[in-house]
Amino acid sequence: MNKTKLISAEVTKQRYCNICGADWDDGDIKEAFVKQGNSEDEAEKIARAYYGWTKEIPTRFSRLVGIEDSTIYDGISYWQCPDCCATWDRWHGYKFLGQYKNFKDIPKTSRY
Ligand SMILES: [Zn+2]
Repeated sequence: MNKTKLISAEVTKQRYCNICGADWDDGDIKEAFVKQGNSEDEAEKIARAYYGWTKEIPTRFSRLVGIEDSTIYDGISYWQCPDCCATWDRWHGYKFLGQYKNFKDIPKTSRY
């Protein structure tokens, strides 16, 4: 594997996992609310209010998993591929850390 592919510029802006190739796209946000039984208007209202969805910029859900470690930060510190468990460190340029099925195995990094 090409080593440069292991380091992402910003993993949260990618659609595909650069380790296993999984598609992280989880569909149009407004459509998700329509599928839940809301009318088109109601779904659009929810998507606009909570997810910044617009007709011009129809934001989409991602399957990428955000992992919080409250000993580091009150928010996401790691991002992980739901399919291959590839894990990236938010605090160090989205550095690829490895593949970890268990949270406790992720090497602890610091925010600073
Ligand atoms: Zn993957």
